[in-house]
Parts: sequence; structure tokens; C-alpha cells
Amino acid sequence: MPLAILITGGAGFLGSHLCDRFLSEGHRVIAMDNLITGNTDNIAHLAGHERFTFIKYDVTNYMFVEGPLDAVLHFASPASPIDYLELPIQTLKVGALGTHKVLGLAKHKQARFLLASTSEVYGDPQIHPQPETYYGHVNPIGPRGVYDEAKRFAEALTMAYHNCHGVQTRIVRIFNTYGPRMRLRDGRVVPNFIIQALKGEPLTLYGDGLQTRSFQYVSDLVEGIYRLLFSDEVEPVNIGNPGEFTIREFAEVVNRLTGNSAGMICKDLRTRDDPQVRQPDITKARRILNWEPAVSLEEGLERTIPWFREELRRRGEL
Ligand code: UDP
Repeated sequence: MPLAILITGGAGFLGSHLCDRFLSEGHRVIAMDNLITGNTDNIAHLAGHERFTFIKYDVTNYMFVEGPLDAVLHFASPASPIDYLELPIQTLKVGALGTHKVLGLAKHKQARFLLASTSEVYGDPQIHPQPETYYGHVNPIGPRGVYDEAKRFAEALTMAYHNCHGVQTRIVRIFNTYGPRMRLRDGRVVPNFIIQALKGEPLTLYGDGLQTRSFQYVSDLVEGIYRLLFSDEVEPVNIGNPGEFTIREFAEVVNRLTGNSAGMICKDLRTRDDPQVRQPDITKARRILNWEPAVSLEEGLERTIPWFREELRRRGEL
């Protein structure tokens, strides 16, 4: 039976890949996005698809959706450190007011609700790797606080709707994810490095580049989310690739795969509260979802770099 799925942030990087996945499984998808960081280019290939609808809307406002809904996936949010600096209030609003509106809709439609949460709820972690049971180390008033606290509030509200209203809820804590359709100028390390490398420029390490991140390819994340939605797990589940690299090591891989000989340079651009380490403990996802990442960093980059090359050419930048 085809299900009706609403995806907020449906024109964003992750939202658009989720639209593709649910459509390819035969479901009906409504994508909602106010396009402040999303882009209709990401869903242009779905225009005219008979099971796909796009609604331009800001989910922080009361929303009305016609017809039945079986599941609501709340992915709307600015999601890069540059965005938090430029759009701090929108980031707080969509995580708090937006989550409230979308939960209200899910309750009304008796739909299952899945919240896109984040490894940022762990802040600059003092436990490594991070299991779901870790409460985190977040500075509420730091530059990332608007995102971290909004997502922490969103998790609390999601659990409250589950406990008080019996809404069927799921929470995925997403670790650094990359792939085609990332925003070119969102300032994050993956687009920055790939674009610099393709242009033959040195890669910009913020600080000494010894901070670590664990990068997962987008198709692995989509698979994890798909399994979580149809599981019975109400409490948060980490979905990420435990392969951990220093930013310097990551830069070496990007330079090697692109044949960039310009090396790297250190820039004093690390923002306050930039986490020193980050690696998911995925014991729980392995156990309850039988999920683990299938795509290595090199394989994922081999699929991502050509997309960036194409995109830069299309824009006349290469
Ligand atoms: N970073 C970097 N050079 C860049 C962009 C980012 O060294 O051109 C670093 C950044 O300081 C952080 C890491 O790469 O330590 C990952 O940053 P990103 O913005 O991708 O995401 P985060 O995981 O910090 O949310």
C-alpha cells in the first residue's frame, strides 16, 4: 500500500534524497520548504512526477495539509555553521516552533513523526565515541547554540508528544553527511575542500586541522532513516559512519582523489565551540536496525566529486 509522506526541508540536501527514496519505494511524497537554504534545483527532476507535490511554505507557521498522511519527516532547518551565524533566529524558530507545528500536524493526522536531530546535541563531547546515552556538552550561548539547543528542544518536544499524546515518534541523530546536492557555499568542510581542490587551490584547514569528524555518505544515512521510520524505536538512534579522520587527513584524501597538488594552508578561522572530536557509537543502530554504513569515504567521494565538478561547470566557475 503506498503511504503518504510529508518531508519538511524537502528541497534541501537530505530532504531531497529522502524524497527520491520514498518515491522509488512507490510512496506519495509532499515536500515542504521555504527555500531559505533549500533549493528547487534539488527536486527539479521530480517536477511532474505523479506521486510528488512541492509546497513552498515556512513550517514555523500553522500549516494545513489536505488528505491523509502516514508519516511526517521533519528535516527543515539551516544546517551549517555559516547558516547559524547568518540565520540564528530562523534556526531556533524552525527547531522549536517548526517542530511544534509539525508534531501538531502529525498528531492530527495520526501520522508517524520522525525528527532529524543531530550529533550537535552532544556539543564538544567529553565522551568518545558518542553513544545515545551521552547527555552532551553544549554551550547554549555559543555560535552553535542556536542549532544545538533548538535540536535539543525538538527532541524534548518530540518525546513529550509521544508520552502525552501517544504520537508514534522517531528521532535520528545524524552525524556529518556528504554527497551530491550539498550546498556549494554553505561553508562546510566537504564542499569547501572539494571546490578548492577542483580549482587547484590549497585546502583551508581551520586551526591545526587536528580536530576530527566522521563522514557518512548520504545513501547510508537514507537507508538508516528508512529502517528507523519503520522500526519500533522511540528513543534517539545515532546514524553515522564511525570511520574517524582528522580534518588534515580528510584534506589529504580530497587532494589525492582530485589530483590537486596545491596542498593545504592553516587559517585561524576555527569558531568558538568547534567540536574537537566527533565519532558515532552505532552499536544501537547495528542491534535494532541491523544497519551499518556500506560506503567508504573514498567510494563516497568518488561519487561526490564528479557532481561538484558538473555543478561548477554549469555555473561557469570551472
Ligand atoms: N573546516 C576546515 N576548513 C574549512 C571548513 C571547515 O578546516 O574550509 C573544519 C571546521 O573548523 C570543523 C570541521 O572542518 O572543525 C567540520 O566543519 P563543518 O563546517 O563541515 O561541520 P561541523 O562538523 O563542524 O558542523
